[in-house]
Amino acid sequence: MSIGLLVRCSRELLDLELGRDVQRAFALYAEELLAWNERMNLTAITDPEAIAMRHFLDSLSVKLAVAFSPGMRVIDVGTGAGFPGLPLRLVFPSIELTLLEATAKKTQFLEHITKRLGLNNVRILNARAEEAGQDPATREKFDLALARAVAPMPVLAEYLLPFCRVGGRCVALKGEHAAAEVQTAENALRILGGRLVKIIPVELPLVVETHHLVVIEKVAATPPQYPRRPGIPSKRPL
Ligand code: SAM
Repeated sequence: MSIGLLVRCSRELLDLELGRDVQRAFALYAEELLAWNERMNLTAITDPEAIAMRHFLDSLSVKLAVAFSPGMRVIDVGTGAGFPGLPLRLVFPSIELTLLEATAKKTQFLEHITKRLGLNNVRILNARAEEAGQDPATREKFDLALARAVAPMPVLAEYLLPFCRVGGRCVALKGEHAAAEVQTAENALRILGGRLVKIIPVELPLVVETHHLVVIEKVAATPPQYPRRPGIPSKRPL
């Protein structure tokens, strides 16, 4: 993995200084990701520079939207191989991170990689967002809910907003057409207690398309009937 590139871009783009231990952790993460990818489908991105930019730096770009503080409760919904949550936890070790993933095989990788990285207090949940969003143990228990590449915005709003406390925020990492996607989610945001704060464009080196951080504030409690049963949000988006 191109650790030098990640270090330079983190500094220049995000004002983040990655120390030696954090650099070693990213190198190990990339190594394990590629090793496990031989056996299961974790990522289509296997070029070292692309892993550094499209997985690690892209995840860290959430820093442009959020002031991470000690004890901040963060959930990453549909985290897959840990993006964007795990890179953020490596750089902001005092956050309380929960990784939520529906596919059991992927949570096996998450168990493995968190152990290898010595991140014992990262919580890993093998569940669907629709179930965990109704579970009193996780409903409205987070300051920040994150997701990348999980669902279109109206569906994602129903996955993310139930996890946030009122006053908390959701950040969706989106591609080129974020603004148009957000327009389709106006109804969902109103129903679920969300309000669009801003959309932040992010230009990543070696990545042609502009990425966007969609920042949503939770301004009112989500009505108890949401999220609906598994599969319904995507079948009948609000
Ligand atoms: N966020 C990761 C990333 O950006 O690399 C993974 C993206 S992958 C395309 C989407 C992931 O979301 C898959 O691992 C899938 O199992 C998970 N997912 C999709 N719908 C979900 C749901 N309703 N609840 C929990 N996880 C879900």
